[in-house]
Amino acid sequence: MSEPRKLLKGATGDWEVVVGLEVHAQVSSVSKLFSGASTTYGAGPNENVSLVDAAMPGMLPVINEFCVEQAVRTGLGLNAEINKWSRFDRKNYFYPDLPQGYQISQYKDPIVGEGEIEVELDDGSTVMIGIERLHLEQDAGKSIHDLAPDASYVDLNRSGVALMEIVSKPDMRSAEEGAAYFSKLRTILRYLGTCDGNMDQGSMRADVNVSVRRPGEALGTRTETKNVNSIRFVRQVIDYEARRQIEVLEEGGTIDQETRLFDVKTGETRTMRSKEDAHDYRYFPDPDLLPLELPDDLIERVRASLPELPDQKKHRFMDDLGLSAYDASVLAMDKDKADYFEAVAEGHDGKLAANWVTTELFGVLNKQGLTIKESPVSAAQLGKLVGLIEDKTISGKIAKQVFEHMLTDDQGKDPADIVEARGLKQVTDTGAIESAVDEVIAANPDQVERVKEKPKALGWFVGQVMKATGGKANPQAVNEILRAKLGVE
Ligand code: MN
Repeated sequence: MSEPRKLLKGATGDWEVVVGLEVHAQVSSVSKLFSGASTTYGAGPNENVSLVDAAMPGMLPVINEFCVEQAVRTGLGLNAEINKWSRFDRKNYFYPDLPQGYQISQYKDPIVGEGEIEVELDDGSTVMIGIERLHLEQDAGKSIHDLAPDASYVDLNRSGVALMEIVSKPDMRSAEEGAAYFSKLRTILRYLGTCDGNMDQGSMRADVNVSVRRPGEALGTRTETKNVNSIRFVRQVIDYEARRQIEVLEEGGTIDQETRLFDVKTGETRTMRSKEDAHDYRYFPDPDLLPLELPDDLIERVRASLPELPDQKKHRFMDDLGLSAYDASVLAMDKDKADYFEAVAEGHDGKLAANWVTTELFGVLNKQGLTIKESPVSAAQLGKLVGLIEDKTISGKIAKQVFEHMLTDDQGKDPADIVEARGLKQVTDTGAIESAVDEVIAANPDQVERVKEKPKALGWFVGQVMKATGGKANPQAVNEILRAKLGVE
């Protein structure tokens, strides 16, 4: 058995946290999984409901081929096995907002099998997390209890919308890993265009399975916290559940296998119902639908249309442009940021471009609460600024001044024009630098003595000369001239 990646300290020793996520992701599609009704978000109550979605007698489901392709596309993006033969089953349960009395889902034979994704952690390291399966199923409608004191309402707009349920293996070992996995999954789905990932609109939500065990022991009993709809909440749920379970076990209690709810106000989970087993749902193949058989050419057509995915992009940034793993992943995990960065780096040094984007630009955007698309400095402008540093027109330090102007009084202007207009060009004229060096040396005889004993003190002189030239002197030239005049090796 391998060493646990991470342990939590309890009162009576160490514990390992084991986490698995079942994520429901709404398929990006114009119409529903088995009907032609619209999936547009924000429509009036019950505007997007066909007779099929309302389960009128005699209505039959017809599979939406586009949704099937989206599931295949997602499976390929998760490096998963695509099952050429799959089947829809009825999962029987009663809900007031599920008019059929059953959900059409996939049970034994899902459309996508095992896969694996790479997940980045805060310290720049990565872990591989297994995917158990992905299946297609319908969403239910929505019950609304807060419109009237004495009535509940049902809105069936969501009823029948296609969902992909993506089940991970129990491969995560901490709240951080659970949150990072959820976030990475969203990034991949967005790149693929198979789910918009808008959690506030319910497009993506996670059922969070948590258990704890002593290192080396068999898996403990897990609880499942339903419908967690933000990355931060996933982290909170895992933290809370792990602590709660450890406490119960350390006091000699046992964990019940149950479904729990997360209270966003208190940050706590509480019992919702004891957990059903699969046999409670009386699954059976849906007689209204034929098994799903995927022709090879459909799979190959989808494969050929896949975009460059975040991991491929990240590794290309590292291998071809020389970026650190950290910078590469920060840039690659958001497609808009990656596109912006690539436009800046076009024809320039990748590392220098990445530095400017991740440090200077992102710093400003964070402070002002702007997205990359709202950046006051365009990628073309920032690219030009990087070019001015590369060809030594300005130093990196002066570039920061120019950048400041680009954000404020010189918005929209070409950085080269700003440098020209403000007289910020780097002084490479050695005569001018030499006279500045002479003045500094003449004014500081004590320091001149010191630097002969301690060559490291040269930095002080460089600083003085730069100051005297308004930061415009070429630092390399200043260094060379100082060394020559002071006799420092
Ligand atoms: Mn489900």
